[in-house]
Amino acid sequence: MIVASPKPVTELKEIVAAHDKILFVGCGTCVTVCLAGGEREVGIYSYAMRMARRLAGRPIDIEQVTIERQCENEFIKDLAPAVERNQAVLSFACGAGVQALAERFLNRPVYAALNTQFLGILEDQAVWTEKCLGCGDCMLAQFGGICPVTRCAKRLLNGPCGGSTEECCEIDKDRPCAWQVIYKRLKGIGQLDRLEQIVPPKDWRPAWHGGARKIIRQEHRV
Ligand code: SF4
Ligand code: SF4
Repeated sequence: MIVASPKPVTELKEIVAAHDKILFVGCGTCVTVCLAGGEREVGIYSYAMRMARRLAGRPIDIEQVTIERQCENEFIKDLAPAVERNQAVLSFACGAGVQALAERFLNRPVYAALNTQFLGILEDQAVWTEKCLGCGDCMLAQFGGICPVTRCAKRLLNGPCGGSTEECCEIDKDRPCAWQVIYKRLKGIGQLDRLEQIVPPKDWRPAWHGGARKIIRQEHRV
């Protein structure tokens, strides 16, 4: 899932300072699951914003709505009347959802309420960890399903650096060394011989360095 965190109320208050009537839009998918931008958070942040503005002597009128997904026009088109009723939109979606609204509703400012952080998993109760950078050329088969591109602080592809220990990465003592995890995993599945193969320099062309990427699957277009 895409993992995000809410911006502090003080920052949101600055972002919407120019408006007295605003639409708060939650997203019912990834950011709901990571407790950042679903219906519940929209409710909490609306309440906090109303309080903050009332205390500042400048009350704000907030309309709240949460849709299934903000990254699909199919869902966001129904927001049009609510957007029209308000001066601006505060989106509780990931960065993709915020931009989808901004590109659709050209006559209203659309602001981001969240800091979008990474593609990851729910590791434990309210603990999310990053697992994928979306490099566009997945190498997980080579590494037993553990991604050194994401999980090694130096993105090393041919074994650990000199600072690695069995427990942790030299960059962060709370983070396991990705290469220890890869070693244990390959040992467990009987594929340690993969570590004897030299991995050539990664081809980064399918990654993000050339700007925003696009996928067109002709076979699914009608
Ligand atoms: S190799 Fe690339 S696509 Fe595969 S998990 Fe790592 S970052 Fe994601
Ligand atoms: S200690 Fe391990 S995870 Fe950390 S930078 Fe070195 S090889 Fe990568």
